[in-house]
Amino acid sequence: MLGIGIDIGGTNTKLVVVNRDGKLLAQERFRTEPARGHADFVKRLAAAVETLRKDYGRQLAAVGIGAAGDVDPDKGVLRFAANLGWRNVNIVKPLEKLTGLPCVMENDANMAAWGAFELELKRKCVNLLTLTLGTGIGSGLVLDGKLYHGSTGSAGEAGHLKVQLDGRRCNCGGKGCLEAYCGSYAIMARAHEVIDKEEAFVKKYGAPGRQKFNTICLTNAAEAGHAGARRIWEETGFYLGQGLASLILVLNPDCVVLTGGVSKARKWFMPAMQSVLGSQQFETPFAKVKIKVSDNADLGSYGAALFGLEHGLK
Ligand SMILES: [Zn+2]
Repeated sequence: MLGIGIDIGGTNTKLVVVNRDGKLLAQERFRTEPARGHADFVKRLAAAVETLRKDYGRQLAAVGIGAAGDVDPDKGVLRFAANLGWRNVNIVKPLEKLTGLPCVMENDANMAAWGAFELELKRKCVNLLTLTLGTGIGSGLVLDGKLYHGSTGSAGEAGHLKVQLDGRRCNCGGKGCLEAYCGSYAIMARAHEVIDKEEAFVKKYGAPGRQKFNTICLTNAAEAGHAGARRIWEETGFYLGQGLASLILVLNPDCVVLTGGVSKARKWFMPAMQSVLGSQQFETPFAKVKIKVSDNADLGSYGAALFGLEHGLK
């Protein structure tokens, strides 16, 4: 039995074929081009599934989809996706009709949590929180070995947890959200305030061939001993610790998995984060929890494939 995992992104849509052990067998991708409309998108998605079917035929048993945004997992509807500009788009039923395969859809961070549960933790931790640290912050929960999506599918919107009263403006329109301090856009906004002569900074610390003022550049600067860059990562760790402390107090997880591009700077933000977690007065849940970082950039699509196999076949 093989599963297809689909990650619908603002620029590209990626498909993977994996077996039950999470081994990658094939992949496909195409331009999402949301402006062509959702009906056209679903047809192109079905065509990509058919392409994979040519090689794997009846072994392909189910499809799992992860989409950034507000997903109704019961109805298979993408209620809102800011990066696609779509509202109330029915994806699951039309795709099932076109392909004849059972299909499930969840928020992409939920699928990353399922991927972490299956692949990183081999199902050994049954209470798990995953934070995807990217431009924004997504999070997903596996509780008692089951994906937890709450009453409207919106559980785990940890990016919008308040970590500062009347704080910085978040992309959601609110103020003081975790994402407004620890999303990559927010980290770089703070860097912009602290680092003068940005052009020279990028020239010195930017990745070769990709001279951009981004978190890679900021990590390289911290590595080279730049005091301002180190301070920004420390602050990031402090706010991440504040958000995580609240989540750990509520959920009492066995394990927290950090993933996404920003997690690559772990060396520079984790000490401050751990220090916040280590200074909590109510100690028990903090003494027990393990913090892991996953460098698997495809946790979301692998997780979607495995989740499809787990739930689409029921
Ligand atoms: Zn927010």
